Amino acid sequence: MIRFWPLERGHIVTSAYGPRWGAMHYGMDFGWPGGSAGRAVHAVQAGTVVQVGWDPDGFGWFLDIDSDDSQGSNLWVYGHIKPEVTLGDRVAAGQRIAHVNGDRTTNGGVDPHCHIEVHRWSRQPSGPGRMDPAPFLQGAAYPGAAPPPPPPPRGMDAQTLARAMGNSVSPERYAALLPAFTSAMREAGCTTIERAAMWCAQLGHESAGLRYMEEIADGSGYEGRADLGNTRPGDGRRFKGRGPIQVTGRDNYTECSRWAHGRGLVPSPTYFVDRPDELASDRYGFLGPVWYWTVARPQLNTLSDARNLDGATRAINGGTNGIADRSTRYQRCLDMGAALLPEEDDMTEEDRRMLREIHAALCKPRPSLVEGSTASLDAATFVQCTDAATYRTERMVADIKKKLEA
Ligand SMILES: [Zn+2]
Repeated sequence: MIRFWPLERGHIVTSAYGPRWGAMHYGMDFGWPGGSAGRAVHAVQAGTVVQVGWDPDGFGWFLDIDSDDSQGSNLWVYGHIKPEVTLGDRVAAGQRIAHVNGDRTTNGGVDPHCHIEVHRWSRQPSGPGRMDPAPFLQGAAYPGAAPPPPPPPRGMDAQTLARAMGNSVSPERYAALLPAFTSAMREAGCTTIERAAMWCAQLGHESAGLRYMEEIADGSGYEGRADLGNTRPGDGRRFKGRGPIQVTGRDNYTECSRWAHGRGLVPSPTYFVDRPDELASDRYGFLGPVWYWTVARPQLNTLSDARNLDGATRAINGGTNGIADRSTRYQRCLDMGAALLPEEDDMTEEDRRMLREIHAALCKPRPSLVEGSTASLDAATFVQCTDAATYRTERMVADIKKKLEA
């Protein structure tokens, strides 16, 4: 149920409900700066016209409009007006029902205005049954004004992601991936249509619409590849291509981990080296593309700004493999426009600065307090060392007890 102001936007309240001139004003007066005669009067609530009255000593012409409970209840009186509806008419909320009577002789000689009252249930004599209209008008709409446009959708939704990716997996799967996907877009600076479209097209091609979060081959083909830093036995399989843009090889896993830890995104500086599978997980899988997009190939956003699909493809692929599919995806994403953009997050610069400080305080390695030690420990490592020391002490105590008992 929505109520309307009796006059259009720009009106003023010329007199409120309450004591006035030694008497009680049982209504509320509305007017226009510069004169109100002839101004349209609108129904506050929907209802039925139950009286079109003439009161030579009070209002002049007036209207009583009765509303049932679904229409907001009570009876509204409009005075000092010229009616434009007739007895028995049903009126909609906000509908024009009258105009302000310009004849001062019907008005006790004051300036033309619209007087409204709200009576509990039905016509009430002067007294508490005539209520203050102001609380009823809290948040009322302006009659005649276009309804406010619906708020723009806030950020990419799962349906949009599914469309951008070509519906290659189930809607549920896209819904599950959406938060990590959009937060990665923000991290990568893909917050314009050009960049978002390039991001979606390239990730979409590389992962077949997010169907694959790691390469299908087992990675043994990379065994011994010194250019990827695969120097230890098993590195090929261990550091196979993972994430929607595949990060491959020990060196890249190492760099990506260090970068992610530096940004407070993973718990340790060797996170993906220690847990390679995590680079293909729903939670962390999109960090690979962010690292790739902003660190390994930092030209990607500039290429995106220039709509340079060929250049971006060469940066990612080394050549132009799959350029036709990439191009189809790119055009589709460009056409989707602003729907593709990730929702702004609510963090302020100050929030981010504090987060970085907290992260540094917890994770920055600190020199050992033990004299002569060259070790430097971050908080997590320190706790693990303490834990290990406690365990060793407990075991020693248990051994001593056992010997004493023997
Ligand atoms: Zn009045």
